Amino acid sequence: MSKVLDVIIVGAGASGLACAYFLKTNNVTIIDKYEGAKKLAMTGNNRCNITNILPLEDFLLGYGRDGQFLRNTFDNFFRDELLSWLKRLGVETHEENGKIFLKNMSSKEFSKLLKSKVETRIKIKKFEPVISIKKEGDLFIVQTAKNVYKTLNLVLAAGSKSYPQTGSDGFGYSLAKQLGHTVVDLEPIEVPFCSKDKLDHLRGISLKDISVTLKLGNKRITEKGDVLFTHFGLSGPVILKLSANSFKEAEISIKLLDSPKYTVEKLHFYKGKTKNYLSKFLPKRLTELSPHKELQAANLNKKQLKDIESFLSNFCIKVTKCGFKRAFVTNGGVSIKEINPKTFESKIMKNLFFCGEIVDIQGSVGGFNLQYAFSSGYTVASTINNIIS
Ligand SMILES: Cc1cc2nc3c(=O)[nH]c(=O)nc-3n(C[C@H](O)[C@H](O)[C@H](O)COP(=O)(O)OP(=O)(O)OC[C@H]3O[C@@H](n4cnc5c(N)ncnc54)[C@H](O)[C@@H]3O)c2cc1C
Repeated sequence: MSKVLDVIIVGAGASGLACAYFLKTNNVTIIDKYEGAKKLAMTGNNRCNITNILPLEDFLLGYGRDGQFLRNTFDNFFRDELLSWLKRLGVETHEENGKIFLKNMSSKEFSKLLKSKVETRIKIKKFEPVISIKKEGDLFIVQTAKNVYKTLNLVLAAGSKSYPQTGSDGFGYSLAKQLGHTVVDLEPIEVPFCSKDKLDHLRGISLKDISVTLKLGNKRITEKGDVLFTHFGLSGPVILKLSANSFKEAEISIKLLDSPKYTVEKLHFYKGKTKNYLSKFLPKRLTELSPHKELQAANLNKKQLKDIESFLSNFCIKVTKCGFKRAFVTNGGVSIKEINPKTFESKIMKNLFFCGEIVDIQGSVGGFNLQYAFSSGYTVASTINNIIS
């Protein structure tokens, strides 16, 4: 068995790497199932939406009811601290519609850079899944597929259950349970919608700034934004936002055409085929689905015009959430009732810490999750620095 370490961090993702970076001791090991930071490398369509410009009070609302849990950690390390840290690392950012993205590098390059900065001081043990952890006296005994390690402080930064191909496959929750923690029910969120309705021929079509309504019983939830048709169903910011609502199966209604330039009257005065008029506003493949598409627009009767109106304003699709494989974020996780919000230390076991998505904290789309991952990683490092000094 190896020497006793000051700290072991399980998971070299965004939060684990931030924690490692800010630790003062070098007697640390980070262990990852894969090469680490695979999810970070995929963020924001390779542009990494790292945070946003909302003031703190509004920012906290982005985490729903649990936002207040993050007040302490954001008091210590919020957007300004994050951005000046990135600047020190050579990472430039810029704002776009209130969101902050990387400017001089891709997410992939950023993830590589962060790992290399950490690796100047701390060894990342790669391709070494942690299988079990137990506590004996003051020591955590960490069993991996290759080795057994001993440490005084243990950080669980093993991510969530979404995008399991990144290593974030839900096993972190089992490790938390092994140490006596409760895991709140898990559900995929910020997830595209899958549909059995045949949409394959619409694959690749993107509609900008349109209204989409989710119908849940008598409840109607409408969001406006961009929608993308994919081979499995629907994606895009507005769909990811709607996926925050809890449901198994639902119907959504898409307002395909929201242009003031289009009116029924203009359609009625058009001399050509209905589909040719509609193709001025809609992708051709969508116009092919319109009722009465081959009829001369000028000859349409009232009922036919109404059918077309209904197609344009209420394009209905039955959907389910696609599941963890395609979910950007996991709802649920290690209960925040069992974690001290000032230190991110377990209330159940001394010297056990959590950071990042393994905790039952979820942010909306727009940089909330990465800001939280980095801030919680910083908080854990600060707490451990105080313990060790
Ligand atoms: C496609 C995609 C795009 C996204 N884009 C954005 C965005 O633009 N902005 C934003 O704010 N959020 C975004 N998110 C969410 C954000 O990336 C995550 O919330 C964040 O990366 C979580 O960081 P983490 O450190 O908690 O976990 P992760 O980054 O998932 O890291 C966990 C690490 O733990 C390792 N691990 C797991 N189990 C074990 C084990 N048993 N042994 C050893 N190692 C283990 C994994 O291999 C992994 O490297 C996106 C998510 C996805 C999937």
